Amino acid sequence: ALVVVAAAATTRDLDGAKVIRVVPKTETQLRHLQQLLRRGTYDFWKEPHAVGSPVDIMATVEQLPKLSTFLARSGLKGELRLTDVGRLVKEQASERSIGRAMDWTSYHDYDEINEWLLQLATDYPELVTVEQVGTSYEGRIMYLLTLGKGGADKPGIFVDGGIHAREWISPSTVTYMLNQLLTNAATYDDLLSNVNFYFMPVINPDGYAYTFTDDRLWRKTRSDTGSSLGCKGADPNRNWGFHWNEVGASDSPCSEIYAGPEPFSEIEMQAVRDQITRFSSTLYAYLTFHSYSQLWMYPWGYTSALPDDWQDLDNLAQDAVAALTAVYGTTYEIGSSTNTIYAAAGGSDDWAKGVSGVKYSYTIELRDTGNYGFLLPADQILPTGEETFEGFLVVANFIRDTYSK
Ligand SMILES: [Zn+2]
Repeated sequence: ALVVVAAAATTRDLDGAKVIRVVPKTETQLRHLQQLLRRGTYDFWKEPHAVGSPVDIMATVEQLPKLSTFLARSGLKGELRLTDVGRLVKEQASERSIGRAMDWTSYHDYDEINEWLLQLATDYPELVTVEQVGTSYEGRIMYLLTLGKGGADKPGIFVDGGIHAREWISPSTVTYMLNQLLTNAATYDDLLSNVNFYFMPVINPDGYAYTFTDDRLWRKTRSDTGSSLGCKGADPNRNWGFHWNEVGASDSPCSEIYAGPEPFSEIEMQAVRDQITRFSSTLYAYLTFHSYSQLWMYPWGYTSALPDDWQDLDNLAQDAVAALTAVYGTTYEIGSSTNTIYAAAGGSDDWAKGVSGVKYSYTIELRDTGNYGFLLPADQILPTGEETFEGFLVVANFIRDTYSK
């Protein structure tokens, strides 16, 4: 048993690991892939959703023969998307900043982002407040940055990123947008006078830090699960207490979509939940940033049914995506989470709308569509930030025009 513990707890070997894309052509093939996902053996980069919709699966060198056999038996043809994940991770090591000042030409670690947030409070005392609102499982401080000068009664927009550790473009994009609002504060004076913005750029601090130190492709939190195999962490976006663990989540601590032992078992999600609750009487929009797939999604994730006001959410999403696409031609798909990707309960967007009553609740899957997946090169941080910010401004201006008195 000791040998098993050691093997499972050791950082996985990504050298030669491949990402393979398959497209289920029948309901049976789809079901096979969904069973494979739930078993938790493989790291699904893009989960099975529907017949005709692509699925990306990573396999280590050791896993590859078994996966090939599985695919062959299911009559699925695999297309090689990434030939050597480990090599790509090593090549991209120079794209990480460790110890550099904040910029958007490299990926910054958790401490650098926190230092930058604190510096903003010093640099923009009239506009910004930063407060500690939580501590992660491993003891990292979690900050909330509040931006605005119209007073507490103004309508609010809550923005978070980095809930999934390996989705590095998310914190980069969230911090880019925050930086744009601040460095162009004169341009956005009317917005900043009429809307309050609440930013938490990295809400899974331990997982994010772990992707810089140990495993670039870690997704979950880093909490102890009590797993006899040594598997750590829950999927923080299956951990929210609204129709928790009903669909698209797993009870197995080794699964990438482990829902946790109970709703809000993860202390980091408690912290974010408490901040959304704190401002809920004035919050009209919640935006949570992920990657990848280029999707602008709204609830529900737990059911294929739509909220009563889905047309409002769809209309605003259409306008936001039109502005985003106008910048570089990047195309996005729009729809409810269940109908766009897959049914998955316990997501933060469902909770924000279903429990906290935030009307415009969106999950945004940023670039790309699978050429690099989670390993998006750093030279795409700026263009991703620029285009996403235009979509974000559409939402912010709409909230101001509709709700600020
Ligand atoms: Zn994600």
